[in-house]
Amino acid sequence: MLKKTNPWVREANLIGGQWVGADNGAVIEVDNPATGEIIGTVPNAGRAETKRAIEAAHAAFPAWAARTAAERGAVLHRLAGLIRDNVDALAELLTLEQGKSLAESKGEVMISAAYVQWFAEEARRIYGDVIPSPWANRKILVTREPVGVAACITPWNFPSSMISRKVGAALAAGCTVVVKPAELTPYSGLAWGVLAAEAGVPDGVVNIVTGTAAPIGDEFIENPLVRKLTFTGSTPVGKMLASRAIANMKRVSMELGGNAPFIVFDDADIDRAAEQAVLSKFRNSGQTCVCTNRFFVQSGVYDAFAEKFAKAVGALKVGNGLEPGVAQGPLINAKAIDKVAAHVADATAKGARVIAGGTRHPLGGTFWSPTVLRDATPDMRIASEETFGPVAPLFRFETEEEAVRLANSTEYGLAGYFFTRDLARAFRVAGALKYGQVGVNEGLLTTEVAPFGGVKDSGFGREGSKYGVEDYLDMKYVCIGGL
Ligand code: ADP
Repeated sequence: MLKKTNPWVREANLIGGQWVGADNGAVIEVDNPATGEIIGTVPNAGRAETKRAIEAAHAAFPAWAARTAAERGAVLHRLAGLIRDNVDALAELLTLEQGKSLAESKGEVMISAAYVQWFAEEARRIYGDVIPSPWANRKILVTREPVGVAACITPWNFPSSMISRKVGAALAAGCTVVVKPAELTPYSGLAWGVLAAEAGVPDGVVNIVTGTAAPIGDEFIENPLVRKLTFTGSTPVGKMLASRAIANMKRVSMELGGNAPFIVFDDADIDRAAEQAVLSKFRNSGQTCVCTNRFFVQSGVYDAFAEKFAKAVGALKVGNGLEPGVAQGPLINAKAIDKVAAHVADATAKGARVIAGGTRHPLGGTFWSPTVLRDATPDMRIASEETFGPVAPLFRFETEEEAVRLANSTEYGLAGYFFTRDLARAFRVAGALKYGQVGVNEGLLTTEVAPFGGVKDSGFGREGSKYGVEDYLDMKYVCIGGL
């Protein structure tokens, strides 16, 4: 159950500085994926509440945008400190609604704070230009202005840090926001609102609505006061929302699905590759968009890598994320585990061999035993579909050219990883991979200082880094004449 003593628990929506329920009092139930227990309810808001939240954000916009960058930064600095100071309570809440291990939840809360702090610092570095003029009597200035109200849709796999990555940048730029957290994990999002208010974010600058996705999304897309839509989630929903938002000429950024390759060359440090493979595949039980989906291992090291990797995976402790030592929590819901089961069944029917896990975990529910499959082939569903779960298929390859071709043979392009000790190959392959993010001898890349984002069906726009603010800024050219 939720601890009512946790000061960051809120079961209401934040609209214009007021904590309110849905107009008709409707709620959605939220469960703990580790136990199936209903931990509480949050408002099931719809279009009308969303419209009011947008209007509140619009009303708050001029005053927030008019604050100096240093003032906006100071508020964000306070917020980052508050998030860090309350990491334990926030992490427990995150694990309760999401399932990931407490250690991972703490990591997510700390990166959430890191994003906010980063953008607190970036607020003061939103520069313009003075362009050398072709006219003697005119000056040319380029300024950057906040786009206005930003609508932010976030997913359930990182319910805290995805909000920081979007809203931190938006607030630094001078935008105001309406956030729709995922209905499966709304508490971390609502907690973000409580923390923001405590940090001194003015009423109406951050608004949060929970409820049924489609009507909230429709209002975001059709309301002319919304000038920007930022979405993290699945590719089909992202494409649908992006096309409609663009038809209404809104700025759009999309962080969508992935199908990350992880290539191990014969010349790699196999111990390191196996260790990084575990991190890259099994973080959040495989439920991240940058998690490796396909392992490509060169013939000469295939058996050695498979053995080391399977051994490490077999040692992962599965259980309720709140228990000490647990590395792998449950999957988010029944649909998620059904997909994992279907991918494993399909792969084994087509000749894959299970060398770790392979079945539902004895704990039942949505727990799956971390799985490694040998002898995977391109005709298996797991080769082309994102499993989003704790299953690692190992494909075999012979040449570098073949590895790159296989790695790129997907419509996705979010993150890719490869392991080699050959310097020339490191540069060649890093250049050849059609991905927005590439790890060379690294299986985990995400940091607030680097640009996160994809190419192809993985979307567009970048979050974090100095580029993350740009998605919330319009450029204005000012010509000063008659000089
Ligand atoms: P996943 O498969 O990871 O749940 P989704 O794309 O369905 O991915 O969900 C990501 C986010 O998008 C969630 O906050 C979800 O509520 C939201 N979402 C899903 N469908 C819509 C929609 N039609 N309009 C707006 N938001 C949506």
